[in-house]
Amino acid sequence: MDSVQYILSPREAFVAEQQWRVVKRSVDARQRELRVHLTILTDDQGKPIAKDAPIPLYEPPVFQDVHHATRSAIIIGAGPAGLFAALTLLEHGIKPIIYERGKEVSERKKDIALLNRNEGLNPESNYCFGEGGAGTFSDGKLFSRSKKRGNMQRVMELFHYFGAPDTVLYEAHAHIGSDKLPGIIKRMRECILEHGGEIHFETKVESLKPHLTSPQGEGKGETLTPVILAIGHSAHDTYRMLAAEGVALETKGFAMGVRAEHPQSLINKLMYHSTNVEYVGNASYSLVTQVDGRGVYSFCMCPGGHIVPAGSEAGSCVVNGMSASHRNSPYANSGMVVQINPEDIPGDDPLRGLAFQEELERMAFEHGGPQAQAPGQRLKDFVEGRASKDLPACSYLPGIIPSRLDQWLPTHIGKRLQQGFRDFDRKYPGFLTNDAVIVGVESRSSSAVRIPRDPETLQSVSTPNLYPCGEGAGYAGGITSSALDGINAALKIAELAR
Ligand SMILES: Cc1cc2nc3c(=O)[nH]c(=O)nc-3n(C[C@H](O)[C@H](O)[C@H](O)COP(=O)(O)OP(=O)(O)OC[C@H]3O[C@@H](n4cnc5c(N)ncnc54)[C@H](O)[C@@H]3O)c2cc1C
Repeated sequence: MDSVQYILSPREAFVAEQQWRVVKRSVDARQRELRVHLTILTDDQGKPIAKDAPIPLYEPPVFQDVHHATRSAIIIGAGPAGLFAALTLLEHGIKPIIYERGKEVSERKKDIALLNRNEGLNPESNYCFGEGGAGTFSDGKLFSRSKKRGNMQRVMELFHYFGAPDTVLYEAHAHIGSDKLPGIIKRMRECILEHGGEIHFETKVESLKPHLTSPQGEGKGETLTPVILAIGHSAHDTYRMLAAEGVALETKGFAMGVRAEHPQSLINKLMYHSTNVEYVGNASYSLVTQVDGRGVYSFCMCPGGHIVPAGSEAGSCVVNGMSASHRNSPYANSGMVVQINPEDIPGDDPLRGLAFQEELERMAFEHGGPQAQAPGQRLKDFVEGRASKDLPACSYLPGIIPSRLDQWLPTHIGKRLQQGFRDFDRKYPGFLTNDAVIVGVESRSSSAVRIPRDPETLQSVSTPNLYPCGEGAGYAGGITSSALDGINAALKIAELAR
């Protein structure tokens, strides 16, 4: 089987997509007229294959029944890394036993609704903690900058198998949306349970010791049960537990800043030169510049989305973004962050990056409103160092109040962001506008800690049998690469069990 590439107008591409088997699609906005690059599968005679031809899209996974399996593995955390590790273990006949501090997804939804209405934060059930991890109520962007870590396509296939739309198999910048993700996560859970895996919700692991000494095998006591540590990067208490129990940890570079929100129609005009996005959907952007030797860049851009309260601790204010599958809110938001290097934070405590994040989150809380409103400033006012008398409409449900982020953000972040926004405006004139607002703070864009592991065995360098993986281990960032890292940990366990 072969394929052929077409460059089409958005409407032509839309029509072709309904008819033919598409294997790749991307929007090209480099010229004034939008173009869509479509690659279509063809037969040996070069004829396009129909969309509904009886040719499998991919090889479906085969999950084994592990009710009576002699091998098992413990997984701490049911985010993308933990869930994809569990599914991979099932494919290899190993029983996954998952411990998740948060609630199952439908119960978690209720806590998130309370949070959005300013009716309280449940520190164990929120945008970060609970079934599906931090990726469940997100934009569900499934692309990753890294192409190195293995079979990304398999991650897409598994998402599709559990109910993601066909586009995840071929769209260059595929996304699922927070209205569809909970259903997909629920089907993954049902599959794990039906095949004999175990999931223990509302069960926070507060010590590794009992797990790392848990025997398994035919006569039990034969070998120890491997432990996959897939805790994400927001479980600061769990990092502190790991440090206390002697697990090797090191500081790693991360990024912090604010979330910027523009009217989506403006972003469509700047990126697509048009407000008509009927066949391509709302535009996104990806911006990067260097200021005083540090990267300043957009992060986790959510077209047609919402800014959400993504903290997990009381007395702190953390924001992030999400969107539904149609990405149809009138707002375009994105993290705008500055690279932070370990040497920027004095001391030698491997967890000092966490304390740095927490301090900024506390400051944001103190500069926010009494009803947990987040601090905000009009974008141009921020860059030009002026107070905002009022703020534009904003998607952040708990609300925002005017604040001088230009004055209280640490200078090495605030000044670089100001210059970064000027640079982005040079590239896209009009980006720097008072119709946009920045909201503080975007502090959890990546892990500030690495749990170093042996590159061959994937086990912790200090703690045999412990497999740190996913975003919290500092080896992945985002849904796809975390899921893939979970798959790799499980494959390693399967390989060693042979
Ligand atoms: C609002 C929001 C939007 C996002 N949007 C996107 C996006 O569009 N695209 C993208 O690629 N990425 C996005 N991200 C980032 C993405 O969600 C993470 O990179 C990804 O979920 C990391 O996967 P993980 O499995 O490593 O960790 P997590 O998803 O963080 O999962 C870790 C799990 O471990 C559990 N846990 C922690 N400690 C313990 C313990 N001691 N005991 C038991 N359980 C524990 C937590 O409750 C959590 O469920 C978003 C994040 C947020 C918060």
